[in-house]
Amino acid sequence: MTTAQTPELDVQPTPLALLLLGREADPKSERGVECPGDLPSPSDPDLVERARAAKEKLGDKVFVLGHHYQRDEVIQFADVTGDSFKLARDAAARPEAEYIVFCGVHFMAESADILTSDDQKVVLPDLAAGCSMADMATAEQVAECWDVLTEAGVAEQVVPVSYMNSSADIKAFTGKHGGTICTSSNAKRALDWAFEQGEPSTTKVLFLPDQHLGRNTAVRDMGMSLDDCVVYNPHKPNGGLTAEQLRAAKMILWRGHCSVHGRFSLDSVNDVRARIPGVNVLVHPECKHEVVAAADYVGSTEYIIKALEAAPTGSKWAIGTELNLVRRLANRFAPEGKEIVFLDKTVCFCSTMNRIDLPHLVWALESLAEGNLVNRIEVDKETEAFAKLALERMLALP
Ligand code: SF4
Repeated sequence: MTTAQTPELDVQPTPLALLLLGREADPKSERGVECPGDLPSPSDPDLVERARAAKEKLGDKVFVLGHHYQRDEVIQFADVTGDSFKLARDAAARPEAEYIVFCGVHFMAESADILTSDDQKVVLPDLAAGCSMADMATAEQVAECWDVLTEAGVAEQVVPVSYMNSSADIKAFTGKHGGTICTSSNAKRALDWAFEQGEPSTTKVLFLPDQHLGRNTAVRDMGMSLDDCVVYNPHKPNGGLTAEQLRAAKMILWRGHCSVHGRFSLDSVNDVRARIPGVNVLVHPECKHEVVAAADYVGSTEYIIKALEAAPTGSKWAIGTELNLVRRLANRFAPEGKEIVFLDKTVCFCSTMNRIDLPHLVWALESLAEGNLVNRIEVDKETEAFAKLALERMLALP
């Protein structure tokens, strides 16, 4: 018997080998961690009933948080829905809940652990639910960046501002270096605050990890020019920047992006305007600058929901944010005569958000109901203290 010859491929191992989602462990990454335990079959017809029964058995001991981007099958069991920061605060306001089941991604569960009491245990139903954007800034890379800024003689003028969508390590770095956290709703207030921390003409912001939110806020909301912004690429020596470029910049943007919002393009805006005359284009500020510049309205998920609530009957909207939320909003507002479409035909769900499905939720709730604490997300005390400092600065923003 002869075997077919396989052409020899020149495949080089990458420094960070890709892991199958849900398999093996990469302690430096938000994803790629095996989920222990026997999950119920997705085809089990009793999943909804099982989730309901386990939740009922747990009573006030459990509080289920559902991020806006979660699937409907999961959202139906959420005690509260919202963006990551609102959910973390809601959990902290429920001290009687011993278990906080966070239907979202890893960094969100970390933030909830930081903001809740030591007695409250935060559970992520699938440990493989990470965030590709948060993964784009590791603690080692950011420490190296700080060395580059120090070498260039600018570190003392730099105030870090980190987006909520970052790991606890990055939040702690931010707290340690006098910076603050921001959300997509308060990014301008956070930047205003940061520039007030030193001499306004020389102060700089290191914005982590979403370059688009940083650039959109600086240029669209604060009147800076694109030339005031440089992009620090952690995969290049010295971030790919010269000391002169770092000294001249006002905004040093980390080269990170959301793999969902970063895919909307100017073409998608032009296409939808041609397809639906009179359409209002409303996008999230994690979208690229040219998309945001071409949109009619820009804002966080909470802003998007409020804008649609206030929209007149008969209005038409193309929304550039995660598909689960857009689909839910389209269904919710259709009876009011509001036409809502997804901005792009090819952009898909956030794959890591979608890791949390009904079988994982049932498994987590039933395990807790049986007294087994599973998939706990716990931030170590030192990281927690510095991360909390950065979060508290955000809470104190005017
Ligand atoms: S939508 Fe983007 S920022 Fe949000 S969890 Fe998914 S990858 Fe991360």
